[in-house]
Amino acid sequence: MEKNDMVSLTIEDISAEGFGVGRFDGMAFFVKDTVPGDEVEASVTKLKKTYGYARLTKILKPSPHRVKAVCPVARSCGGCQIQEMSYEQQLVFKENKVRGNLERIGKFTDIPMDPIIGMENPFHYRNKAQFPIGLDKNGNIVAGFYAGRTHTIIDNRRCCLGAEVNERILDIVIAHMEAEHILPYDEKTGRGLVRHVLIRVGFATGQIMVCLVVNGTDLPGAEKLTDALRAIEGMTSISLNFNRENTNVILGRDGKLLWGKNYIEDFIGNVKYQISPLSFFQVNPVQTEKLYGLALEYAGLDGGETVWDMYCGIGTISLFLAQKAGKVYGVEVVPQAIDDACRNARINGIDNAQFFVGKAEEILPSIYQRHRIHADVIVVDPPRKGCDAALLNTIIRMQSPKVVYVSCDSATLARDLRILCDHGYALTKCRAVDMFPMTGHVETVALMTRTDVAKG
Ligand code: SAH
Repeated sequence: MEKNDMVSLTIEDISAEGFGVGRFDGMAFFVKDTVPGDEVEASVTKLKKTYGYARLTKILKPSPHRVKAVCPVARSCGGCQIQEMSYEQQLVFKENKVRGNLERIGKFTDIPMDPIIGMENPFHYRNKAQFPIGLDKNGNIVAGFYAGRTHTIIDNRRCCLGAEVNERILDIVIAHMEAEHILPYDEKTGRGLVRHVLIRVGFATGQIMVCLVVNGTDLPGAEKLTDALRAIEGMTSISLNFNRENTNVILGRDGKLLWGKNYIEDFIGNVKYQISPLSFFQVNPVQTEKLYGLALEYAGLDGGETVWDMYCGIGTISLFLAQKAGKVYGVEVVPQAIDDACRNARINGIDNAQFFVGKAEEILPSIYQRHRIHADVIVVDPPRKGCDAALLNTIIRMQSPKVVYVSCDSATLARDLRILCDHGYALTKCRAVDMFPMTGHVETVALMTRTDVAKG
């Protein structure tokens, strides 16, 4: 077989990046914009030993789960991958993916799994958007997204995953740039001023932040722009962020406030967060609350427990659980995230949470080594690569009665749960949560309990 050969495939699965997967002659082919159940013709674009990539050329027979994309640019934009699959089927697919990994990689049978938690409205769920600004072929200012793997910007101010107010904000910013003859930044020449517009919306508070990322330290006519933006209900923070580097990193370190406060506020449950342009914050607050609510339910706290929250980030889970626990300890490797966690604890009057900066696989083993600490519940929420073996070993040695595992990659989840199960734990409950509709991602929460405890 060679590049550009045509293959006929029945799409059976979806890859982690959201590509449809079909088989031809024992080879797996990844085909963008296809849905399980589609029969398609595709042209081979890349060949490896056991798999390849192919470009969709014709849908021979559409899958019963195929729907028309809501967004006219769904295929060219990298933001959504499975908009052409009905949302109902997306949920089936995600739940099966988690179950399949637990069975195949984790060797679990009779998995105690509750139905996946989906969204009532799977669009407009993102509270944060970063639109690149550029010029189109005709010299018009555009805001949207990069096409494919290029840095060509396709105009799309109406992303159906983002907040509806984004479009109005971008219209105002671009009208201002046109009126003041402000040019977008050009990566090739390093000239021009405006690079990105970052917009964040507090879904529970309605507060809005607009931050223009500029290749400089000023914006001509800044006051006129802030006057126009302030007319939008909820506008709370308008700022510039300075980024004069030739880099793909969107935000620079410094900036200045043009109007309002330098942060917006939002809530996860009843915990309040202050969010500045550089802060990390979960992008789907509605599902985050459900995900962490599930972690809380699995932790089954009565009020006196000691909880360790590993990979705690800005402390969202720690602070959520602190309200029901005796004491919560959080561990996170990024120091700025821990600064945020401490501030968030303070503004909420939470005084039973304490945070450590460092690697989970170093902090917990060393504290356990020195102090033989006890944990009633250990929560882990690691990045995609899962937990480090040194951390799992310590958890096993500590024999904490419950481990609540929050995972964004069910393959590494299955691997880690198997290790815990081979050392005294049992998988007691698990449930998938859809945090990112229209993409291939799925989160899972699993409860592991000690078998000696479970048996009393
Ligand atoms: N629960 C967190 C989000 C977790 S995302 C929250 O509520 O914000 C995973 C986190 O693990 C990230 O914040 C990342 O910085 C952190 N991380 C990655 N590797 C780590 C390690 N080895 N030890 C501790 N934290 C780590």
